[in-house]
Amino acid sequence: MKKEKILIIKDSRLRNLIYKLRSAIIEAVSQERKRFMMEAEHEVDFQIRSELRNKAVKLMHALDRSICKCSLCHSTNSDMAYFPPYKSWYCTACFDRFHERFQSDVQRLISHPEEDF
Ligand SMILES: [Zn+2]
Repeated sequence: MKKEKILIIKDSRLRNLIYKLRSAIIEAVSQERKRFMMEAEHEVDFQIRSELRNKAVKLMHALDRSICKCSLCHSTNSDMAYFPPYKSWYCTACFDRFHERFQSDVQRLISHPEEDF
């Protein structure tokens, strides 16, 4: 199992650059999602409409699990921590708040690997 990662950026200029980059990525993903949904609205073929909606959902799901924003509070301007069992990034405040819960989930996963999280 991969280890937890905590990414703390101390340099304020680099931190601001990363926050702006995260915002730009989130905006681009949101625009692409809107485009898929608009195309789906105007599509008459059920199969194609369904595929377009699935693409929009997958895109947002990927964004929700990315380092661009916290999976719990959706903060974009924070240091981030990765929690491998959930394959998601959390701001360090949420990670600290829920770390004990995360650890119990890890222990449960180790003891009962067949269980779904
Ligand atoms: Zn958070």
